Amino acid sequence: MSHTPNTRQGAVKQITSHSNPIVKEIKGLVAQRKHRKESGLFVAEGLKLATDALDAGWKLRYLALGPEARENQIAMEAAARAKSRGTLILEVSNAILAGVTRRDNPQMVVGVYEQQMHDLSYIDPRKAKTWVCLDRIRDPGNLGTVIRTADAVGASGVILIGDTTDPFSVETVRATMGSLFHMPLVRCSEAEFVEWRKSWPGTVVGTHLRGTHDYRDVEYTEPVLLVMGNEQSGITDQLADACSHLVKIPQEGQADSLNLAIATAVMLFEVRRAHLKL
Ligand code: SAM
Repeated sequence: MSHTPNTRQGAVKQITSHSNPIVKEIKGLVAQRKHRKESGLFVAEGLKLATDALDAGWKLRYLALGPEARENQIAMEAAARAKSRGTLILEVSNAILAGVTRRDNPQMVVGVYEQQMHDLSYIDPRKAKTWVCLDRIRDPGNLGTVIRTADAVGASGVILIGDTTDPFSVETVRATMGSLFHMPLVRCSEAEFVEWRKSWPGTVVGTHLRGTHDYRDVEYTEPVLLVMGNEQSGITDQLADACSHLVKIPQEGQADSLNLAIATAVMLFEVRRAHLKL
């Protein structure tokens, strides 16, 4: 994927054509994981996300402003902040915004950001509270919701174990509602996680439909690793063996299990309640 040269950053450019190379680049980032992987960029829609990202110090490659945004004081302030940090500001039509985001009613602002992803060495257990560890998560909506919930509960971050859905897809980013810019993400293989976990000083709790403990009966010693399973198959035997406790959320009725993001929310608020002694 081609990159716009640095000399064009920090400027303002009007784009009127759907075949403009930057428009094509943004479309590629929305449509294909391969383009996001090769470029290290991703697309996030909306003014709130742009201001969240700027506040949190994320790097913005492009900020596309529709006609409405150019009349909006907050959007223009965000554009001025971004421009002062080297972002190329694009003045575009609503038709171009709709085309790049594949939406009939596009947001007035669309940003292209540099991805941030860490490895396990990023995590300092002495400073950690709770890290959510997701085993091979598949669904973008679930991943975005988990990131948002982890942020809401004041968790330290999210670890993606094994082959997962892309955290930088438009669907995942939308579902995070801006929390992507506040929650550190770590990626690792299952083998790396199992090895690294051996030196973890706190509770490592796995959630399992055949868990032997009720989730309310466990003492959660910080820092906590909360391991959540794949939507179809749950957590692997290797990850289950790596946990100090396997817990179950008791259910009534006929449902086989809870949705992954719902189960994560129940668990995170229980861990938080235990620490706040509510
Ligand atoms: N068929 C899968 C299984 O056998 O584990 C169901 C996976 S469930 C949809 C996805 C994840 O949500 C599980 O791996 C677990 O982490 C969590 N989960 C869902 N319901 C749960 C419950 N009642 N107790 C504990 N964890 C649960």
